[in-house]
Amino acid sequence: MTARAWAGLDACVHCGFCLPACPTYEVTADEADSPRGRIVLMRALAKRELPADDAALDLHLDRCLGCRACESACPSGVIYGPALEAARASITRARGQPASLLVGLWILARPERQRALWLLARLVRSTRLPELLVRGAAWSGTAPGHGAAPRAPAAPAPSVFALAMLAATRPGSERWQAPPEAPRVRPSTEMALFRGCVMDGLFGHVHGATIRTLATNGVAVREAPGQVCCGALAAHAGEEAAARALARANVLAFDATAPGLPIVTNSAGCGAMLKSYGEWLADDPLAERAHAFAARVRDVSEVLAERGPRRAGPLALRVAYDAPCHLCHAQHVVEAPLALLRAIPELELVPLEGSDRCCGSAGIYSLLQPHLSFEVLDAKLRAIAAAAPDVVATGNPGCLMQIGAGTLLAGLDVELRHPVELLDRAYRG
Ligand code: SF4
Ligand code: SF4
Repeated sequence: MTARAWAGLDACVHCGFCLPACPTYEVTADEADSPRGRIVLMRALAKRELPADDAALDLHLDRCLGCRACESACPSGVIYGPALEAARASITRARGQPASLLVGLWILARPERQRALWLLARLVRSTRLPELLVRGAAWSGTAPGHGAAPRAPAAPAPSVFALAMLAATRPGSERWQAPPEAPRVRPSTEMALFRGCVMDGLFGHVHGATIRTLATNGVAVREAPGQVCCGALAAHAGEEAAARALARANVLAFDATAPGLPIVTNSAGCGAMLKSYGEWLADDPLAERAHAFAARVRDVSEVLAERGPRRAGPLALRVAYDAPCHLCHAQHVVEAPLALLRAIPELELVPLEGSDRCCGSAGIYSLLQPHLSFEVLDAKLRAIAAAAPDVVATGNPGCLMQIGAGTLLAGLDVELRHPVELLDRAYRG
């Protein structure tokens, strides 16, 4: 995998067309924080001209969001994402990982280890205490607002931001809850649902909306027991062996319980990882099955856009769509979520400046690089404040939490929703 990953950088001719697309270069204006600069560093790592524990190499690769906007901007066809993952694996082997990160990945590796964690998180969330504490912190000035701030904001305390992220996962007011009866049509096909870890633990309401909207569009959802986390967080952290173990477990679980069925996911980050299982397991005895698995994976917006979707009731809301990086840059799914939203009568799709730019979430980046993450988020919040939508729609749990936390801290009156939640609500209308 590593040699193939480095080969993705071969096409780089150092033209610099990708620089304006890079959110970290926009913040630091440091060439080493640009895609071109990082490619130079990664090539030096691959040729062993720099050791994996070189301080400058580690600093600038740690600061990369892995958003892959540089790939979309590159006219030469550079494949950046796998090289970054390979570089991070080398760095991890050389310098190790913080114990807290290893514990977190160990918990996420098995659903039974996560149960108590998500139960506790949902309990705390249901009290609305996190939201009240965050609003209090924002009001008292310990957490800065963004919308009208004339200067670069200081990042809030990590504890305040973590509370804001938890508050942002709330299912929302009653109008977003499950309907007593969802409209259904006779299913013409069946698909398996990929549940994920964070998505299943904190966004069960989005899974509910996904199952109902698919049912309305003639798709019956089959559960696939035995599935585990997709492995994206382990891959981003440079834990290659852990990522491969999770990929193997998912291939075996879906082949056993949903053989041959299309696999539908509502998380852009999971979808990008699941679609790359062929590369992750290329040298594994399961290689052929991993390729077949990856070919079966579809984002829920792709499935619904292909099927119409069926006509919905009106929803008079101003909605700004924010494209998750791992949907638009990694999976190249750009139009499907917009088609889904356009299928809702009276929904006004308002333009959002920089909608395809990273929000600063990037897996666990907001926890590892809080200051840079917050500065990247600030640009997104300013764009949202200017667009003034009722709802920001985005199809990734990390983005829902990051932007949701930011809008809460900034005091912006906007809801964060997955696009299928809007379609689900419109079907009930
Ligand atoms: S990655 Fe692409 S756009 Fe960026 S410098 Fe290299 S060739 Fe140019
Ligand atoms: S992945 Fe994103 S943050 Fe990293 S170099 Fe590319 S554009 Fe910049």
